[in-house]
Order: sequence, then C-alpha cells, then structure tokens
Amino acid sequence: MRLSDLQTGQRAVIIKVYGHGGFRKRIMEMGFVSGKLVSVLLNAPLKDPIKYKIMDYEVSLRRSEAAMIEVVAESEAGTRFESEMLGTTIEEHIDRIVRRHGKRIHIALVGNPNSGKTSLFNAASGGHEHVGNYSGVTVDAKRGEFVYKDYRFIIYDLPGTYALSAYTPEEVYVRRHLVEQTPDVVVNVVAASNLERNLYLTTELIDMNPKLVVALNMYDELQHSGGTFDYKCLGDMLGVPFVPTVARTREGLHELFDTVIDVYENRDASVRHIHINHGEVIEEGIRALSAELKSHEETVPNFPPRYLAVKMLEGDREVEHLLGPQPWYDRLKEVRDREVQRIEKQLGEDVETAVTNEKYGFISGALKETFTPGCNDEVKTTRIIDSFVTHKLFGFPIFILLMWVMFEATFTLGQYPMDWMESGVEWLKQTVQGWMSPGPLKDLLVDGIIGGVGGVIVFLPNILILYLFISFMEDSGYMARAAFIMDKVMHRIGLHGKSFIPLIMGFGCNVPAIMACRTIESRSSRIITVFINPFMSCSARLPVYLLLVGIFFPSRASLVLTGLYLLGIVAAVVTARIMRRHMFAEDETPFVMELPPYRLPTWRSTLIHMWNKAGQYLRKMGGVILIASIVIWFLSYYPNGGEAAGGAAADMSESYLGRIGHAVQPVMAPLGFDWKASVALLTGTAAKETIVSTLGVLSAEQNFTPQSALAFLVFVLLYFPCLATLAAIRNETGSWRWVLLSVVYTTLVAWIVSFAVFKAGILIG
Ligand code: GDP
Ligand code: MG
Repeated sequence: MRLSDLQTGQRAVIIKVYGHGGFRKRIMEMGFVSGKLVSVLLNAPLKDPIKYKIMDYEVSLRRSEAAMIEVVAESEAGTRFESEMLGTTIEEHIDRIVRRHGKRIHIALVGNPNSGKTSLFNAASGGHEHVGNYSGVTVDAKRGEFVYKDYRFIIYDLPGTYALSAYTPEEVYVRRHLVEQTPDVVVNVVAASNLERNLYLTTELIDMNPKLVVALNMYDELQHSGGTFDYKCLGDMLGVPFVPTVARTREGLHELFDTVIDVYENRDASVRHIHINHGEVIEEGIRALSAELKSHEETVPNFPPRYLAVKMLEGDREVEHLLGPQPWYDRLKEVRDREVQRIEKQLGEDVETAVTNEKYGFISGALKETFTPGCNDEVKTTRIIDSFVTHKLFGFPIFILLMWVMFEATFTLGQYPMDWMESGVEWLKQTVQGWMSPGPLKDLLVDGIIGGVGGVIVFLPNILILYLFISFMEDSGYMARAAFIMDKVMHRIGLHGKSFIPLIMGFGCNVPAIMACRTIESRSSRIITVFINPFMSCSARLPVYLLLVGIFFPSRASLVLTGLYLLGIVAAVVTARIMRRHMFAEDETPFVMELPPYRLPTWRSTLIHMWNKAGQYLRKMGGVILIASIVIWFLSYYPNGGEAAGGAAADMSESYLGRIGHAVQPVMAPLGFDWKASVALLTGTAAKETIVSTLGVLSAEQNFTPQSALAFLVFVLLYFPCLATLAAIRNETGSWRWVLLSVVYTTLVAWIVSFAVFKAGILIG
C-alpha cells in the first residue's frame, strides 16, 4: 500500500521509499524512513497536499510524493500499532512487520522482443506463458511469484520494446509500469546474440536510474558462435551487474536472483549511476534543462532530472504531459525550445536522431573494448533458410503448402483420435443409461451434460493439432517470415505485414489474436485488424463444421471446409478495404519487421504451449459450455418435462427453448433454418462450441437439408463474435462503439451471405 492511499486517521508503518536519489534523500531527511510510524491528519479527496504526523511533528506531502512511499497500514497488518502484546514490545512488533514486508522484491523484466523475457519468467516463476519467436507475443504484463532465499519475488513479464520513448503502445506500457508500479529492481533481459541493438534499451534504462541488473540471456548462442565477451568489464563500465543466463535451460538463474538480492539490499559493488555522454553540444542543453528542473525537484518525484531533460529535448510527449500541469512549465519549455534550436543548428540533425546516434556511439565504443564477435554459424543458417522462404517465387508456394499441411493434418489426422473419443463418450452415455433409473435427473445427465459437453470435447484432438502447428510456426521464427512475405499483399488491403500474425492466430482463437494487435503501431491499422479478426474462423467453430460436413458433405469435406475458411478471409479482406476507404485515411507509417534468427523450438516449450491450450479448452468445457448445456437442457425439458418424460422429443417445440426459437425463427426462415437451428445460433453467442451441444440436445441435425446446412455453416462462420471476443475488442479499441458495430455488422453480413448461399444452393439443386 502507498502512503497516499491511507485515509484520514489511519496509521501505518513505513516500509521503503521509492523514487530517484535527490527526491528520496529529501523525503528521508524529513523522517520518512523504514520502520517509522506515520498517521494521517488530513487527507481530503482531491486535495493536495496531505497532512501527516510523523515522529510527533506535522508535515505535509504532495500526493505524488506520498505515492512514492510504501507502507503497511494497521488494517493490512491485522494488528494495532499501540499496546504491548504477547510479550513483544511495539518496536519489536514493528520491526518484524518491516522485515517481513521488506523481503518482497518486485521485479520488472524489460527487454527487446525475443530476448527471452517470457522464457526467463517461466523458468523463474514456473509459469506457463507462451514463448514465441517474433515480436510482441507478450502484450500484457504477466505477474508471477516465487520464493528464493527467504525473499518473495513478484515478477512481471512486460511487453518487448526497443526503446523507452513514447511511440508504440508497448513503450508507453512499459514506461508507465516502471513509473507507476516502481519495481524494486528492473531486470533488463539482453540477448547476447544481438548485443548492439539490445544495449540501446539498456542505455535508456540507465538514464532512468532504477535499480538495474542485466540478464545476459542466450549466453549459449554467444558461446556457440565462438565470440568472447568480457561482460564483467562492461558491467563495471556501465555501473550495472551483468549475469549470463540461458533461460531455456535455466542456467544462471540462481546467480541472477542472487545478484538481484544484492542490488536490492545495496550491497553489489559494481552498482553505480553513470551519465551516458551525449557529446558536448547536447550535454549543454541537458545541463540547462536539468538546472531548471532541479530548482523544482520536489515536484517530480518519479524521475531523475537528467532523464527528464533528455526526454524534453527529444520532444517526448509523455514527459510533456507529465510536466505540463506545473506552473513553471512554460519557462521550462522556453529553455527547451531555445536549446533544441541551438543543437539542431550546430549538429545539422534533429535532436532525437542526434541523441540516438550518440547512444549508439557510446555502445559501440563500449563493445569495442569488451566484445569480439565469433563467426556466427546461426546467422549463416538463417540466411540460407531465408533465401528460400522469403524468395520472390518460392516464398508463396512454401507458405501455401505449409497452410495446406496444417489444415490437412488438423482434419485428416485428427479424425482418428476424434473417433476414439466419440466412442468413449457413447460408451459413457450407454453406461449411465443402463445404470440409472429413469427420471429427469437421468435425462439431465445423459442428454444434457454428457450429450452437451461430450459433443464438444471430442474435437479436442483437432484443436490441439491446429495449435501445435501455429505454435511451431511462431516459435521457430517462420511466422515472422510469413508476415514479411505477406506485407505486399497486406498493403493491398490497407494493412501491414504486422497485421498478418494476429490474423493467423485468429484461426486458433480470436481472443489472444485480438490482444496481439497491440503491437501494431498505427492506430487505424490496429483497429481494422481487431475488427476483421472475428472473420478468421477460430477453432471453436471447427466442431460445428465437422459435425455438419460429416453428415451432409462427407465426400466433399475438404472442399467445403477450405471454402469456409476462404470465405472468412474474403469477408475480412472486403471489410478491411471498406474500412480503409471510408473510415480512415491512408496509412503511411513505414513498415519495420524484425526477422529473428530461426530457432528449433524445444519439446518442452511446444508441449507447454499445447498443454496450455488444452487446459484453456477444458476449462471452457467445465465452465461456459457445461453451464450452457445445463441451461439449454432445462429450457428444452420444461415446462412440459414432467409429462413428456419418457422420450417425447417431438414435444420440445412446446418447451421454453422451443418458444424462444419460434419467436426468432421468422427472421431465420429465409435462410432455411427451423426453430431448432435458430435456438442453436442464439446459444452460440456465448461460445460457438455451444452450437454443437445445442444441436445435439435438440437433435436438430435431422431437419437440415444440404442447402440449409451450408447456409447454416456460413452463418456460424460470420455471425456474432463470442462474448470473450467482444470483451477483447472492447479492451483493445477502448470503446463500446466498436463492439456494437462489430455485433451488428457481422450478424448482418452473416444473414445476407447465408441467404445468398441458401438461394444459390436451391437453384443448383
Ligand atoms: P520474449 O519475446 O522476450 O518474451 O522472448 P521469448 O521468451 O518468447 O523467447 C524467444 C525465443 O528465444 C524462443 O524461441 C525461446 O525458446 C528462445 N530462447 C529464450 N531464451 C533462450 C536462451 O537462453 N538461449 C537460446 N538459445 N534460446 C532462447
Ligand atoms: Mg514474451
């Protein structure tokens, strides 16, 4: 809890003070040190400053300052800090609280995409987050906890970034996390296989001056390449300890966290705050601005003035936002504008470029002294493979071949385990049937639960196979190449190659796919990609296809299935073009896409990924789908369930579900759907797998014709994104407007296209 969170009259013990050197020193001199008791005299909402009582005198602190002080309130500690209790004095008691809470270390993992943050996070916390070999798999902070050497570590896996400016959503996200959550120690994950670019972020972190440790990850690749790196020496030069790690095999993790503890407890000898020299011309500007800032230091507790000065010169929007409300901001801006003008005139380039160049100059100087690259055979293999898969002529056929193999394996190979599971479910049904006496409970169990959940669970193997392929393509680095060769095509529909990965991920599940859109820098491209994603046929729709295709089109299964996936893609493409033409301006942001080296994914990581997905799918079975099955069964069984018991399924049209279906049916009639199909579509809005359960419970398949079955498949493909997807759309676009538009648009499109398909089907016969 932070001091600023306390209400008037509450008391708390101070645990630690965050913030940079000058600020922290001043606050601590005022008496805010760990172990001291503080109580709130007056904290009125919206009122600044807040009045405190500490060591028997009154002080007031700005809200922003109080937010940098970590405390444990009486309510949190569960005791009152007053009387003597159980033989311990109040001092001993408080001491114990401070020690217990002081032994929690919050860590933020910060690093470039693909540096191995998520692998490190998983290895440390025993988590099962997905690792992927392209930028931006992690789009949210993942939190994990573990205990090591009687410290409790709270570790956050942050999105990958190349810098800490405010250009991409990730950069803003990471910076906010560092400022607002104020981690105790920042672990900068640096890929040893690409030092120069990775260390750029390190220099930005050094400017910010948190407690910092560098995890020199992928150290195995560096050793493998035959390069030598005196990381100890570099660490001493930068004032940051470097610890080599191999996150994939957990090597070096103990050393890493030992170092984190040492840095946290201020006992690592190599820690020292250095100033990265930006050259005399820029330094002069930094000096002028920091002098100005230092005279108001108490009002900017979160950052060292030097960092703010550099960012001001670079014209950083977030920092301007942070300082904007200050009364002296105009004066500061004046100094800034004058300095920027001077620097640009003297150097002949804009400040941002100049600062970047200076930083790179600093890095290459530091590396020259400490690093000798080997002949990197990994790079050579990568180049050879790349010359094929991104080849002008071969690139596309290879890609299409891989997609074909993926779907073929999903459907054909997946058929065998699916058959086994089907007989399993059937066996279970028969067993329960013979074993229970007739009555509603038996009907609920057999028809409702086993029928509903069992009907969906049999598709687990297909889904696992699909995910195995997607995960392998991500982890190996191929997905990034696919995005690369798709860039031209994506430009045709007004998007970037970067939008391609979320779209492919959509074949698995639209929810993570929509979340992955966060890596797209341009807002318009991001929104379009989010919006069209539900047209990518997710694996939840697969059970419906397999069921109906199996009944009505067994001989032309591949054709129909491929057709459905393609139809979804066409709908997405057309929608994207319409949106780009009528809702957004042309997007001119230049395209940058990383091509990370190929890596053979380990079995461990691929299996973890698969197990994850299986777990998600099974949880959905136990959750939404189980509940939906039971609800649907009830609605179909009652109010006439009592007398109809004994198997009068024909009477179901008299049930509640039947009535709802009948009410909706007129709208659906032109598409050839009866009331049962209409009900199935209604229940499918929760989660599309539910459609299969509903069809099963109602035995609705019997009333389809091939034409209406096809129209139904098309409708299921296109209509209403499921609830989880809508939640993701709301999150990523930040507004309900897009959610509403998505519901209306997709359902309308579904109706129109299904209608066309149904009519065309009847014409053809
Ligand atoms: P993130 O983007 O920083 O979260 O990186 P990931 O953890 O997703 O890892 C990217 C890729 O690097 C994955 O294919 C990992 O298996 C691989 N990787 C991670 N750590 C190491 C390591 O120490 N050595 C090697 N050789 N590969 C690693
Ligand atoms: Mg990651």
